This record gives sequence, C-alpha cells and structure tokens, in this order.
Amino acid sequence: MNSSITPRLPGIRFVHSPGPTRVPDEVMHAMQRPMTDLADPRVAALIVACEKGMKELLNSPSSDVYFYASNGHGVWEAVAANLGSDNHSLLIAGSGHFSDQWAIQTQGLGLSVIRTPHQDGQRIDVSAIEAALKADTAHRISAVMAVHTDTASGMTSDLAAIRQAIDRTGHPALYVVDVVASLAAAPFDMDALGVDVCLGSSQKGLMMPPGLGFVAANAKAFAWSIQHAKPRFYWSWQERKTDNQSAKFCGTPPLAHLAGLEVSLGLLKAEGLEAVHARHQRLGGAVQAAVRCWATAGAVKLHCKDPLGFSTSVTAVEVSPGIDPEALRVVAREKFQVAMAGGLGPLAGRVFRIGHLGDMNEPMILGALAGIEAAMTVQKIPYGPNGMAAAIAYLAQHTP
Ligand SMILES: *Cc1c(COP(=O)(O)O)cnc(C)c1O
Repeated sequence: MNSSITPRLPGIRFVHSPGPTRVPDEVMHAMQRPMTDLADPRVAALIVACEKGMKELLNSPSSDVYFYASNGHGVWEAVAANLGSDNHSLLIAGSGHFSDQWAIQTQGLGLSVIRTPHQDGQRIDVSAIEAALKADTAHRISAVMAVHTDTASGMTSDLAAIRQAIDRTGHPALYVVDVVASLAAAPFDMDALGVDVCLGSSQKGLMMPPGLGFVAANAKAFAWSIQHAKPRFYWSWQERKTDNQSAKFCGTPPLAHLAGLEVSLGLLKAEGLEAVHARHQRLGGAVQAAVRCWATAGAVKLHCKDPLGFSTSVTAVEVSPGIDPEALRVVAREKFQVAMAGGLGPLAGRVFRIGHLGDMNEPMILGALAGIEAAMTVQKIPYGPNGMAAAIAYLAQHTP
C-alpha cells in the first residue's frame, strides 16, 4: 500500500460517487448469509423473489428479468448479444460519455451502430432520433437505445418524449433504455413508457456492491431476439428463460448478490417508491442550490444547461480553466472524508461530480457539501457565500 495513504480514518466516510454508492447494513448482512447447495428450495425462492421485486420496481409485471453476474458494461453486452443482427443497425442516442462508451462497445462486437449527435449540457436530442427513424424507410434500425441518466454529465433525458418520437414515425424499432444510474432515483415506469428492454446494475440506486447486472425484456423484444439475433449462448435470454432456477444463470447464481438485492428491494418498497424518488429530488435540489451560490464567485458552476435536465442521482460541477478538479477530489477525500467522482471522457479535468443517490439522507448531503467547501477553501478555489444556508433552506422547504 502507498505509505502516504492513511489506512483507516476515524468516523464515517462520505461516499458521494454516483456508483458504487453506500451499501446499507441490512444489505451487507444479507450478503453474509452462508452458502447452500443449489437444490436447496431457498435458492429458487430467492431468485423468484428477486425477479418479482424487480418487476415491481420497473412496473412491468409481464416482462422477464434476467440477472447476470456482471457490471453495467456486462449487461450492455447482454443486450447487444440478444439484439445484435448482421442485417440491422442499433441507434444509440447521444447523451454524453455513457452513450459514447455504449456505442463503442457495441461496435466493438462487430454490430452496426448509428449515433445521434449530442450537445454539452443538453439532454438527448429527440428530433435527431426522429429524423434518423424517418430516413430509415427500409426499417434497418432494430432498436433505439437511450441512456436515461448520463452519469458523466449528471443529466436525465425525457424518455416519454423519445417514445412519442418513435411513435410519430410509425417505425417498428424496439426501445431500449439504460437505467443503470437512474433506477430507484428517478421515476421509471417501463410499461407506461413503452420501453421494450431496460438494463441496470447493482451498485447505484439499488444500494448494493458492484457485481450484479439485470436486463428486463418484454415479449416483443424476446420474439425479435429469437427471430433475428445472431448466435449467442451465455447471455441468451432464450437459454435463461426457464423455470430451472440454476439454468437461469448459465451456471452458479451469484447467491450473495441476490440475497442483498432481495433486501434492498425490500428497503425501497418499505420506504415507498414515490418517497424514494422525492428524497432523491430533494437531496439533488439541495446540492444544486449550494452550487448556484458557489457559482457567484465565477470559478465553479453547474454543468447542466437545461433546467429540466438535472439528474436526481448526481450533479456535475464545472470548474474554470486552471482549476484542477482531480486535486480537489484528493483533498476532499483524504482531508475531509468526502469521496466525489471526477470527469469522464470529454469532461475529464473539467468537472467534479457530487453523487446523491442510494442510501442517503439530509445530514449526509449537508456534511458532504460542507466538506467540499472546506476542500475548495484549502485549494483556494473561490466560491460564493451562503451555499450551505441555501442547501439547508432548500431541504427545510421541501421536507415532507
Ligand atoms: C455506471 C454506468 C454504466 C456502467 O456500469 P458499470 O457497472 O460501471 O459497468 C452504464 N451506464 C450508466 C448510465 C452508468 O451510470
């Protein structure tokens, strides 16, 4: 270990990365359950409970849920494996770094990808999707794929508007949504939105350690996959759509993660999904209120330029040229115990990001904001006054 890193710091560390997020004790304890043999009926019951809970969370009783022992990139690959065809193209809507990476990975599998352009600080350009579908009179585009919350920019796009654009063109493309960063932080109603496939992973709003991915697919997507997709095996929905519980995983199920998921789904249900979303909205609003005050000194500002685009999961804060957000992160983490995220892709070196999703409450947000102010003070980054007061006022005003 690097000797300049203190092995243990006293007190609670504030994890404000937008994934991995804090894991509640209840989830940790469930994951420590002893292993069992796979014929134990508790294994099947656990898998069934997780599937049921996910369908409830997604509000899609008739979709099938497939779990994979993988991260989010793994389930991107699962979607590509089940929807990839040599005779079709996948349209990936530009939303920022995560849509870029999704497109690069999908192209890397030898699939044809069409991308729509994206503008810094803006949500997904719905008209560009509509134009691409209109131009595709031969219906070569098999799916429109969109990232709900692009974690790198801290922006959430309008999924209903994309659905309406697809419908306006009468194009038969499937609608695929990445909800890795938004699920259990912002409303997502798979059936009502007309989403055919969605995918996510464990370490963000689901309040779990990384390592469990899921894909939900409806009957239309399943049928399309059977008819058109290239040969596949490990990721195959067809292989995994079975009542034989261990065949669902193409091998041994990730039992510890499933045990954790059952508990995390229970925690979300007990709090109430609307209350969970409102809490995320409130905590994100408090962060943004603080950053607006900081911004008056001219050195930092909110990255999101669309008032309707602010994510309830993460806020990206842009720094002026000459300010090093990575150095700020190190001071915040090592001196003030606040772990933030940095910039990714084109935003590397231009932003720091404050995660406010998962197992989080008001004093945690206030502590994080105060720690970041302290770190900015150490780094001599000018920030406007009253940020903490604005965050407190926002919370006081919006607390139910
Ligand atoms: C985090 C994230 C991913 C990738 O997930 P990993 O588990 O890191 O592979 C994909 N999409 C979005 C929107 C994300 O936020």
